[in-house]
Amino acid sequence: MRRVQEKAHEKGIQGKEIRADGQGVAAEGTEILHVEEIEMPGKFIKVKCEKCKNEQVIFEKPASNVKCLVCGEVLAEPTGGKARVRAKVLGPVK
Ligand SMILES: [Zn+2]
Repeated sequence: MRRVQEKAHEKGIQGKEIRADGQGVAAEGTEILHVEEIEMPGKFIKVKCEKCKNEQVIFEKPASNVKCLVCGEVLAEPTGGKARVRAKVLGPVK
């Protein structure tokens, strides 16, 4: 949770202040790229709805509830990081 706040802060102050800070002097933009890297999206995972047995691929870090496309059951809830998956996880999707 703390990491997310720091991230938001970094993003808010932009490159100018990061350089003033002395951290991004050598390579302009590196700091920004780094921020993007931290925000690397998660993977997709395959889950199986406990209710209707529908298999569905969902995002590992959803921003909102992920519902079963068949019966509407909530399969995953956002937590700020990885989702709290309520369905049976079958494994990562490559
Ligand atoms: Zn379902």
